[in-house]
Amino acid sequence: MKRAVVTGGAGFLGSHLCERLLAEGVAVVCVDNLITGTRENVAALAGRPDFELVLHDVSKPIEIEGRVDYVLHFASPASPIDYLELPIQTLKVGSLGTHNSLGLAKAKGARYLLASTSEVYGDPLVHPQPESYWGNVNPVGPRGVYDEAKRFAEAMTMAYHRVHGLETRIVRIFNTYGPRMRPRDGRVVPAFVAQAIAGEPMTVFGDGSQTRSFCYVDDLIEGIYRLLLSEEVEPTNLGNPHEMTILEFAETIRAAVGSSSEIVFKPLPVDDPKTRQPDIAKARALLGWEPRVPLERGLERTIDYFRALAAAGVTAGRAR
Ligand code: NAD
Ligand code: UDP
Repeated sequence: MKRAVVTGGAGFLGSHLCERLLAEGVAVVCVDNLITGTRENVAALAGRPDFELVLHDVSKPIEIEGRVDYVLHFASPASPIDYLELPIQTLKVGSLGTHNSLGLAKAKGARYLLASTSEVYGDPLVHPQPESYWGNVNPVGPRGVYDEAKRFAEAMTMAYHRVHGLETRIVRIFNTYGPRMRPRDGRVVPAFVAQAIAGEPMTVFGDGSQTRSFCYVDDLIEGIYRLLLSEEVEPTNLGNPHEMTILEFAETIRAAVGSSSEIVFKPLPVDDPKTRQPDIAKARALLGWEPRVPLERGLERTIDYFRALAAAGVTAGRAR
């Protein structure tokens, strides 16, 4: 039986990834300090003999006994509110955490996969964004702590590949949504869905003309699993190319919830990218992958999840 270490495995994406690996017959060690994740995300896996939750900050050296075949580094605050509140932890987990997890992979002879992000493209001047675009990032702006940490993480991962011959993979993840996002973690999907369910005003930042492209979590995890098993070392975009403005998105969610919330406009955060759409030609050709879950279906499942949380009285969901 193969064995994987998933850092950040108690987070939104990490918990879905742990489930997928287990379903493929891979034992999982989930290493998480719960800074933005929760035990509930992996509660259904607790008690399985092939699953282990280790509470640990991966910005400190990571020690795991026994064989390890894969190391998947997903630990990092990921919502703009989280990384603005936790700038130093974000820089540390992207730099020291990446170094430590690469060191673990090297020591164990494991294959390594880095969860990078479309944020490495910053506020892009090329649209849609192919992997060959080097980005337009403000290093000293408030988002720089996340963007630059991930850019460093990519550089470090390539260095371990080139110097130590480590088998490495880099996925650049575009906006992904689904069950287990924290309600009101600040990202747009939990924000709009929670507001629409509660009948509160839906907060569109700026004039809502900025665009994003939203991928359902199951599609993303399928792509990540395929990339892990592939031989591709260079970064690969995964996301849904279906692009819409944030105002259209608010209206779509309001209709899907059946809510009569009003839409209100709030100031646009500093350095908020104006456009974002993945060019997934590479993933299509290399992995035979493309998203399959239409927005309506993904939103339905996500809304069901947030409705159940609201019914159980979970409305804030701050992990800390
Ligand atoms: P999340 O906040 O739900 O999950 C992150 C997890 O990492 C949490 O469980 C948190 O407790 C853990 N963590 C953070 N710092 C840690 C540390 N020092 N030591 C141990 N654990 C730590 O966010 P997510 O959306 O699941 O994102 C997971 C990864 O995917 C992140 O690396 C993020 O940058 C990347 N990503 C996500 C998206 C997206 O749309 N969801 C897009 C691009 C990239
Ligand atoms: N956004 C918004 N209202 C909110 C939260 C976010 O209009 O309550 C906007 C945000 O300004 C950005 C987009 O939605 O343009 C996506 O934001 P998110 O934080 O989900 O991710 P980002 O793509 O910015 O990393």
